[in-house]
Amino acid sequence: MTADRPPDARPQREPGDGWVACACGEQHWGLVGAAGLLLRRRGDDGVELVLQHRALWSHHGGTWGLPGGALHLGERPTDGAVREAMEEAGVEPETIRVRADRALVHPDWSYTTVLAEAVAPWEPRVTDRESLQVRWVPLRDLGSYQLLPAFADALPELRQMLRRLVLVVDAANVVGSRPDGWWKDRAGATARLRDHLAGLATAGLAAEDLGLPGRRWYPEIVLVTEGAARTVQPAGGVQVRAADGAGDDAIVRAARAAAQDGTVVAVATADRELQGRVRAVGAHPVPPRLVRN
Ligand SMILES: [Zn+2]
Repeated sequence: MTADRPPDARPQREPGDGWVACACGEQHWGLVGAAGLLLRRRGDDGVELVLQHRALWSHHGGTWGLPGGALHLGERPTDGAVREAMEEAGVEPETIRVRADRALVHPDWSYTTVLAEAVAPWEPRVTDRESLQVRWVPLRDLGSYQLLPAFADALPELRQMLRRLVLVVDAANVVGSRPDGWWKDRAGATARLRDHLAGLATAGLAAEDLGLPGRRWYPEIVLVTEGAARTVQPAGGVQVRAADGAGDDAIVRAARAAAQDGTVVAVATADRELQGRVRAVGAHPVPPRLVRN
């Protein structure tokens, strides 16, 4: 996707601002790449997306695309997309959750679409001169909008990504999958796993490891504990469910509860019998090595 600005749009030019002459034959805005935010919510008439009506002076002016722009040097695409959406549409970071991203990779440039979900009521507003308007648009009405060509090209795959990923972790199985002395302190080993998982929620999981479209997915994480590890508390955004009885039953319950509204549920366990049980409720087993510290 090409995004550009008039020379006077930003008196404070950022180090990432500039044109790249790409080996594909085009010029692209963003010396270290660009990113945009695809923000969704569930409205009265189904899924709605925040679209930006692009200012007429811009490349493909008058079409509808996503708030976004050039990344700063050293900035992660997820951070850059949210920052640009703050600048262009008044997005409030605390009201959204990043769920996944998708990269369009050119020889000398890349554009990352960051998919996020609104978790609190919020209305977009024009906050700089790059937009004629920004608003919630029902997904079913997209056909009547003239879309930015690159956004239209990406849309078939992006539609497959308007989902949430929940990762349920079989703590006993994952901790026990490597002989590192965990049996001397099961609660301590499980707390370390929890802290590692908190980082994983931010760093994301590779889409190809999950058989999902796009580049990375940023899961909500449910850690199911049992036995001596039941004392471990939630932290860093990781939810913890302490099993009353058999850990496997609690894992199947957590997987079944999460598998609603098209949510993708992955269950980290190497237990063959449990893998079969979670498949039966619509979840996908993944190997412990994907989530281990
Ligand atoms: Zn290119």
